[in-house]
Amino acid sequence: MDVSLLLDSLNDKQREAVGAPLSNMLVLAGAGSGKTRVLVHRIAWLMEVENITPFSILAVTFTNKAAREMRGRIESLMGRNLHNMWIGTFHGLAHRLLRSHHSEAGLPENFQILDSDDQYRLVKRILRAMNLDEKHWAPKQVQWYINGNKDEGLRPQHIETHGDAVAQKMREIYAAYQEACDRSGLVDFAELLLRAHELWAKNPEVLAHYQRRFKAVLVDEFQDTNNIQYAWLRMLCSADTNNIMIVGDDDQSIYGWRGANVDNIHKFLKDFDQTTTIRLEQNYRSTGNILNAANAVIDNNAGRLGKELWTEDSEGDLISVYAGFNELDEARFIVSQIKSWLDEGNPLKECAILYRNNAQSRVLEEALLHEAIAYRIYGGLRFFERQEIKDALGYLRMINHPHDDAAFERVVNTPSRGIGEKTVTQVRMTAREHNCSLWQASNLLLSEGSLNGRAANALRSFTSLITELEQTVLSLSLEEQADKTIKDSGLYAMYQAERGEKAQARLENLEELVTACKQFIVPEEADEMTPLSAFLAHASLEAGETQADTEQDAVQMMTIHSAKGLEFPLVFMAGVEEGMFPSQMTNDEPGRMEEERRLCYVGMTRAMKKLFITYAESRRVYGQDKFHTASRFIREIPSEYVQEVRLKSQVSRPVHNRFSRAASHEAFQDSGFTLGQRVTHPKFGDGVVLNFEGAGDHGRVQVNFDEFGAKWLVLAYAKLKAN
Ligand code: ATP
Ligand code: MG
Repeated sequence: MDVSLLLDSLNDKQREAVGAPLSNMLVLAGAGSGKTRVLVHRIAWLMEVENITPFSILAVTFTNKAAREMRGRIESLMGRNLHNMWIGTFHGLAHRLLRSHHSEAGLPENFQILDSDDQYRLVKRILRAMNLDEKHWAPKQVQWYINGNKDEGLRPQHIETHGDAVAQKMREIYAAYQEACDRSGLVDFAELLLRAHELWAKNPEVLAHYQRRFKAVLVDEFQDTNNIQYAWLRMLCSADTNNIMIVGDDDQSIYGWRGANVDNIHKFLKDFDQTTTIRLEQNYRSTGNILNAANAVIDNNAGRLGKELWTEDSEGDLISVYAGFNELDEARFIVSQIKSWLDEGNPLKECAILYRNNAQSRVLEEALLHEAIAYRIYGGLRFFERQEIKDALGYLRMINHPHDDAAFERVVNTPSRGIGEKTVTQVRMTAREHNCSLWQASNLLLSEGSLNGRAANALRSFTSLITELEQTVLSLSLEEQADKTIKDSGLYAMYQAERGEKAQARLENLEELVTACKQFIVPEEADEMTPLSAFLAHASLEAGETQADTEQDAVQMMTIHSAKGLEFPLVFMAGVEEGMFPSQMTNDEPGRMEEERRLCYVGMTRAMKKLFITYAESRRVYGQDKFHTASRFIREIPSEYVQEVRLKSQVSRPVHNRFSRAASHEAFQDSGFTLGQRVTHPKFGDGVVLNFEGAGDHGRVQVNFDEFGAKWLVLAYAKLKAN
């Protein structure tokens, strides 16, 4: 290939990095300055000019998606297949090493990977075996402890407890957990990294082999490496023949909460001599306004390594900030903008909706579904497919119809109430024998007294819970039903007892489910169903909707964390309000605010042409309206780069309920009803008109029924009569 092709499309600084003589190198530069592009071109250069074979190159990326993209880009540059080049994430590479050297690593040949949920369940089993109460030893906390120590390279015997009883017990649990893993040939994610490190530390000949093999090691997104990953890289590259190039941006370090250590950049400079540092300062991704705004925001952080970023691109559009009355209005606004984008002939896949927390996707998903706009969620499940949501729906399904066997299986022992696999097997057998549901079988076993005392008590606690819920929720609104079920089933408390981001996210999702119930409108065709059955049908239909596949043109939705390294012409950052982003917990932990700000910087710098930042003045969180102000991050953007926008169709804020879309007063009067008027519905009985939305055939009216609570009804079908 013509080498000049590799350099032509680069600026001077980038060229310097790509064409540098073999040495250790640090490329430190802001977002969109071409770090990843430099890394890709450098790999091609090493093969073309330095004659390093693909076999001798190791490239580390942050996600599998990034690894696939990188391989594709290098292959298209080189015009050939490079399957013997190692490109992957730290976890993927460690896994590969352990497979090739399982016996040196002390693992059985067919060792299995334990994902985070499996690990959680194993921790629970260990606690039970050790007779420890989960209330005091929250499984999530134990899991956090084990992984945290592994990330630091610590085995139980390395941990100092200073005679502290709790610390000693934790260490004991860790040791028991590890023994169980070793016995069954199980390897959790953190273990992959630690084992791979130990493999080399304990087997110098294996290490020497890889040191000879990998002449060039390249790492993208270096700012988010943790300590064990760093130690692993350092060990690999300690021979003179190895060259390591790292690229990163301290301003984009967003995984501190998971043990990533941005100081690794400083360490790198100390540990690897003769490192050439190259700074890239030209941004090729974003327009001037987007870049200047992002720079201004990140400038509020102290202790940065300091970088200048400029662009040759024009100023472009201003950043648009939209303040929604509430989250529904915010979602509608975003969808309306996406529709205009589409009408202008642009593809959907060029726009991304980014949010701080996974739970935020639900309202956005529904707004997109409503307009039949295809979307794809990255790095996460659709709302109704998430574990905790399925658990909660499992309970609601049992209440709705106790003979639902799938729901029974799902929730009978979640949260744990001491119903063992043996009991469940017995229930299953009885059901088969009598050709009845698991629910009937349970009641049969209980009335026959054929279970032993402990098993019977445990099972009875479940059946009476369901029966009680069934009886009490009948009189409640759908929202209250969901709330009560989540609480009384113990699901909420179970996640509350856990620690960490994941548990927090699950709680937020559960709260969001209550909100979903509140906002749910029974569709006309489901008129005969109870609100609960109608809602459950809605949830399963939505969950069954398959993700838009990768080929299909679809809006991209993801958390800002998973948007790292990516770029999109049109970006929406949603939910940018105090209490959401920065999140409520930020104030409690030192350094968290700065990490949130870096996250904001990452989000903003994903946008190439147009950036919308939206927030909701009121957001329903767990059935309660929370009032928020615009995020400080919005306020940190100098006013010359932003404009506030309003929806064109917006008439005025409604009088009665300032949170619903504006109603046209005339249309409302045409309907023959007025606010506050008493009305009668053939099914729901008497109520008071609360609110009105839309016009003509689509006009809807909200009535607060004395018996059934507030409901939205389509006027054309509602058969409402004035009293
Ligand atoms: P991030 O920090 O977000 O990971 P990055 O520094 O890795 O960003 P890249 O993704 O490599 O940046 O590049 C950003 C965009 O700029 C890409 O679309 C890339 O193709 C383009 N780009 C980079 N360098 C040049 C250049 N010299 N000429 C034209 N386009 C460039
Ligand atoms: Mg990059």
